[in-house]
This record gives sequence, C-alpha cells and structure tokens, in this order.
Amino acid sequence: MSSVAVIGAGTNGLSAACVAARAGLDVTVYEANDTIGGAARTGPLAGSDAVFDLGSAVHPMAMLSEAFHALRVHERVDFLVPELSYAHVAGDHTAYAWHDLQATLDYLPKTEAVVYERIIRPLVQRIDSLGDTLLNPLLGLPRHPVTLAAFGASTVAGMGLLQGWPGRYPHAAALLAGCAAHVAGGSRGPAGTGAGLFLAAAAHGAGWAIPRGGSQAISDALASELHENGGRIETGRRIEDLRELDQEVFLLDTSPETAAVLGAGRIPDTLQRRLAAPRRSPGSCVVHYVLDGPVPWRDPVVAQAGTVHLGGDARQVLAAERSSRHRAAAEPFVLVAQPSQFDSSRSAQGHHVLWAYCHVPLGSNQDMSRRITAQLEAAAPGFRDLVREEYVRTATDLERQNAALVGGDISGGTMDLIGSVLRPRLSPSPWWLQGPGMYLVSSAVPPGPSVHGMGGYRGAQHMLAREFGIGR
Ligand SMILES: Cc1cc2nc3c(=O)[nH]c(=O)nc-3n(C[C@H](O)[C@H](O)[C@H](O)COP(=O)(O)OP(=O)(O)OC[C@H]3O[C@@H](n4cnc5c(N)ncnc54)[C@H](O)[C@@H]3O)c2cc1C
Repeated sequence: MSSVAVIGAGTNGLSAACVAARAGLDVTVYEANDTIGGAARTGPLAGSDAVFDLGSAVHPMAMLSEAFHALRVHERVDFLVPELSYAHVAGDHTAYAWHDLQATLDYLPKTEAVVYERIIRPLVQRIDSLGDTLLNPLLGLPRHPVTLAAFGASTVAGMGLLQGWPGRYPHAAALLAGCAAHVAGGSRGPAGTGAGLFLAAAAHGAGWAIPRGGSQAISDALASELHENGGRIETGRRIEDLRELDQEVFLLDTSPETAAVLGAGRIPDTLQRRLAAPRRSPGSCVVHYVLDGPVPWRDPVVAQAGTVHLGGDARQVLAAERSSRHRAAAEPFVLVAQPSQFDSSRSAQGHHVLWAYCHVPLGSNQDMSRRITAQLEAAAPGFRDLVREEYVRTATDLERQNAALVGGDISGGTMDLIGSVLRPRLSPSPWWLQGPGMYLVSSAVPPGPSVHGMGGYRGAQHMLAREFGIGR
C-alpha cells in the first residue's frame, strides 16, 4: 500500500489525512504536541479546573466547509448556533448582527438598514456558493461567476462605507469593521473588506457556530474519521527532517518557515527562499478568564451574542488594527467569545469561561490583559469583580504552544490582496511545492486561516491526482 506522512494534526492536516486514508493510502500523522488539533484545541491550563479553547472558539466557516460536511464532522459535532451571531459595542451604542438578517435590519436605524441590506443581502442569499468560491483557490475558472460578481460589487460598496461614510452609517460600518478587523493589521484594501463581508454574510447565512465541548470536538471528529479509515496519529513527535520518515509523499500542515526547512533539497531554491521569509500578519495576545458569573454587559442583549466586538466605532477599530502592526494599541480592538452562555458543559460549578484577544506586533511578548480587561470593564461595569482566574498567552507564548503560529501570527501570513493570492505561490494548485511528493496544506495556503479544513482537503485531493492518478 502506498504511504503518506502528514506533518501536523491541525484541522487542515487531519482533513488532508482523512482524504488520503479514504482513498486507501496508508496514512500516518505526526504531531509535535501531546494532543491533536493545533489551533483548534480545548484543554486545561495549569492551576484551573476549567477547560479553555486554546485557539479558535467560534467557527463561522465550519458550517460552510465542504470538507467538514464530506468528512462527517457535522454528524459528530453538536454545533450550537447563537441567534445573535455577534454584537459590536462602541461606547453607549451596540450594533447587533442577528443570525436572521431581517432582525438585524429591524434593529438598525432606517437609513442604515437600507445601506447594510444593499451590501449584505446579495451575499447572504448566495451564502453556499459564496462559501464554495472563497473557500477554494481564487485563481482558475470562477466556480460561481454571478456570486463572484456580487461579491466584487459588495466589496466596493463596503470599502465606500468603511472609508467614506463610517460616521454617517455608524452601526452598519461598525458591523462590517469588526469583521474586517478579524484580519489582523486592518487592511484598507479589498482583501480586508472582502474577508469582513464574508464573515458578516456567514453570520446571517449559516451562523457563527460554537461546538459543544469546545473546538477540540472538531479536531476529535476528524481524528475519528481518520481512525475509521485506517489512519494513525503519533503525538509528541516533532519532525525536524523528512529523512526521519520512510514515506515519500508529505503533506505539511506547518508554517511556511517549517516547510522551507523540511523541503531543503527537495523543492526549488526560489520557492524555498520565499517560504523561509513569508509576509506575516501581526500577532495576537489571548486572555482566558474564569468568571464567577456571566458578563454583566451594560446592554443586556449582548449576553445573547456568541461573539462580542469591543474597541469603539469603525474608525477607531481600523486605526487600532493598523497601529497593531508597530505597537500595541492603548485601546485595542478586542474579540470576545462567551461559549459558556450557550454550552452548559463549559460552565462547571456555575463558573463561566470567557476568551478574549487582540492583535499586537508580530513576535511581541507584551501582556495585554490590563488593556483587554479595561475594554471589557467599559462595556460591562463590574466585570473586574467577577474575574476568578486569568491566564495570558502572549504572541510568543502562542508560538511556543504551536510552532505553526510564528510570532503569534494566527493567519498563516498576511491576508491582504497579495498575501491571499501568493499563498505561497501564484498557481491554481498552490499546495504543490514543486518538488517530488511535497505539499503544503496548512492555513498558509488558500483559503487561508480559520477552522474549515479546506486547505488540507483540497491539497490532499490534488496530491491524490498528481501522485497516484486518483480522482483526476
Ligand atoms: C488564538 C487563536 C484564536 C483563533 N480564533 C479563531 C476562531 O475563533 N475561529 C476560527 O475559525 N479560527 C480561529 N483561529 C484560526 C484557526 O484556529 C486556524 O486558522 C486553524 O486552526 C489553522 O489550522 P491548521 O491545520 O492550518 O494549523 P494548526 O491548527 O496551527 O496546526 C498545525 C499543527 O502542526 C503541528 N506542527 C507544526 N510543526 C510541526 C513539526 N515540525 N512536526 C510535527 N508537528 C508540527 C503543530 O503543533 C500544530 O498542531 C484562531 C487561532 C488562534 C491561534
């Protein structure tokens, strides 16, 4: 039987392994950590009885992922979809992105509702084909030309809203800016706005899902699928050199930098040099809280949101993001997830877990807990008094926790226009590293970051066709 090695047991690596194992290949996954999941892991932190999402917490792309449907993740994971996908708190005002688009429009001031609907409805109506378009490489024949055209038009209008009239349409602009700011560094261009629109459309389309039990449930579901198809996983095994392994085909769920090291002598020098020095996004600093009760939001509706955006109006959010490239913002844009509001298994003994992070310069060791707590306190007076435990993971800690998060960059490289297309090279089949049996399948290839497994799923399909003529 032909054998394949997968380096890294993140959701992309596990998805790739499942595809290869289902095709009848002998598959082994090698994972440096003692547990699987990479940036989709849930586990304890020393000194606490609670379990925390160590990476992802809320999963906008999981519902749209062809990989997760095909690999039976949806059969194995109980996805909880909050009715209020996210809330954006700016001073005394809150903007709500309900799963139901009409409810969102009903809450917006009339003039803002007209603008928001014009931009977002064409995408929400086409959410499945939009997912199919954007969760695949963009180069090549467009899969859904009408959807792509609608996306282009909405992106232009969204850029106008964010850059031209954020003061005139403050709620609509805040809803979009908060999503655009998920892309670290606050890209002004079409890529940041487009990514934001995709997230916002997903909020009203499929919803922003929280897996019962935490993000680990997704990784475990993929591992079950792999085991059922005869694949193996070796944890606690960091691969430093591919000569350690007997296989001749390698699917790398790693950073580009690691791919450059592992690919030495196997891939062309020019590509190896590009992989060794990728364009990177800012890093992130995460704070995990255990609270004595639910967050006392000033606006009680916010308690219904799976995700909360803090950090002011659209202009302030985008300014904080741009500043995060060079220095941490005094009042950062903060992403908050409150899983224990929806999943009782996460609120042991009446305690609540809360996950919050902000962007910081790449490789920063700065502890942002005071600034993040200050943002939470401003939106929820009395928050500080509820904090029972607090654990900080700086950008450098994130890399220690997972070698793929170089400098704490959780995006696998920049997600501006160039970074989205040159990922890692301009090609309709970007996974192949132009050397025998060498494939990169992590978030450093299209479609990029987020928990969807699509980089691994498509990368492995391409590998099967190229190496074994399967499914060509
Ligand atoms: C703090 C944080 C918050 C996030 N929030 C969200 C969110 O809410 N929603 C969302 O959708 N996405 C979120 N993301 C992004 C998302 O988690 C990632 O984009 C996605 O999980 C990446 O999957 P991956 O398989 O490409 O890589 P990873 O999950 O990073 O997996 C790579 C694996 O490879 C292993 N590895 C690396 N090098 C080697 C080696 N040499 N030998 C063996 N093993 C190796 C690593 O240990 C790791 O397990 C977040 C990420 C982080 C870090």
